[in-house]
Amino acid sequence: MDSKSLFKKAQTLMPGGVNSPLRACKYVQAEPVFIANAKGAYIWDVDGRQYIDYVHSWGPQILGHQDPAVSKAAHAAIDLGSSYGAPCYGEVALAEEIQRLIPSMEMMRMVSSGTEATMSALRLARGYTGRNKFVKFIGNYHGHADSFLAAAGSAVAATPGTPGVPEEVVKHTLLAHYNDLDAVKAHFAESGSEIACIIVEPAAGNMGLVLPNDGFLQGLRDLCTEHGAVLIFDEVITGFRLSPGGAQQRFNITPDLTTLGKIIGGGFPVGCYGGKREIMEHMAPVGGVFQAGTLSGNPVAMAAGLATLKRLQDCDYAALEARTKKLAEELTAIMTEKGQAVSLNHIASAFTMYFSDVPVTNMIESGNCNADAYATYWQQMLAQGIYLAPAGFECTFTSFVHTDEDFEKTLEAARKVTF
Ligand SMILES: *Cc1c(COP(=O)(O)O)cnc(C)c1O
Repeated sequence: MDSKSLFKKAQTLMPGGVNSPLRACKYVQAEPVFIANAKGAYIWDVDGRQYIDYVHSWGPQILGHQDPAVSKAAHAAIDLGSSYGAPCYGEVALAEEIQRLIPSMEMMRMVSSGTEATMSALRLARGYTGRNKFVKFIGNYHGHADSFLAAAGSAVAATPGTPGVPEEVVKHTLLAHYNDLDAVKAHFAESGSEIACIIVEPAAGNMGLVLPNDGFLQGLRDLCTEHGAVLIFDEVITGFRLSPGGAQQRFNITPDLTTLGKIIGGGFPVGCYGGKREIMEHMAPVGGVFQAGTLSGNPVAMAAGLATLKRLQDCDYAALEARTKKLAEELTAIMTEKGQAVSLNHIASAFTMYFSDVPVTNMIESGNCNADAYATYWQQMLAQGIYLAPAGFECTFTSFVHTDEDFEKTLEAARKVTF
């Protein structure tokens, strides 16, 4: 079946025809292509068209699709059984490797998605401190657990960000704009002894890429230390992408808890949260905070994750960063030449070229971008075999398998876009 027929049928079976809303391509005023297979830097749709992939499953596939070592490890694990619901070797091996790369994760717990990781880290921070309130940044995404789905209401209290979330649940969620340290200080001045934690994307990747201003993360660290609150870095995107040790290594700030996902699963469903032993020992069965999972520590996912982290040790992060910077800057120059107002944020192997005439440092600026211009750009790039994220407020990810030729083809396509 072709993409068009599949989408038609899918819409009768799933809301919007998709299992995650952005995939429906509404933001780019288009219909999704259905993917048949993927290898290296490329994906093929069911109509046989090939694309250079800059989504890479929204981040996990930093080694490209079907990395031989990762595939081999996953196949070998499947041959030993796909799930036991009992302790296995792979969990220990992956945990040991994560701890080596991210030393602040003295203890950890595997789960099956980033959503579970952040939800559990919040519960732990609350259980550990005996406090209910927490600070979250507008435009940061921490998965879809109720407490995080809060919209900016009055100055202090949040309102539900979606139908289905009770007001009582988000009344403990304190919001601030990203990079606005003064707003966080105000929350602590007002209710410091009631705040369990701050959760933050140490480089934000869900309102496009937004980098922390100098002193922002350190300011959060200091506030948490001063008030006995837990600092949670949500590194579901930044872990193993910003550096082998994630954003905390790159920015040299140590959180109390870290959440991981995406890359650590090597393309399989995995999340993980961990941090200070003293805090983690509040988890059952050692402590009283409950969290569990039928498929947690799944042996196939553990094997793929471990193989991914091992492979990443041979990868040249600095070289990919330099090549990504060049690609992003050349794309930006091409759009500028066409008379488009664009603004670029880049770090490591991630960038967002915003259709915006101001630099983007928070959600207000990200939200003001020209969605129509992005839709035009996206549609014409797709038609030329370049697969970009189907929304302007997402990251473009490069991987270790993208070649210079892939980048040149991408620039060639961008030159042909007309607005
Ligand atoms: C993707 C993401 C999540 C949620 O992970 P899922 O595996 O989709 O549940 C949480 N936090 C951040 C920063 C993310 O980018």
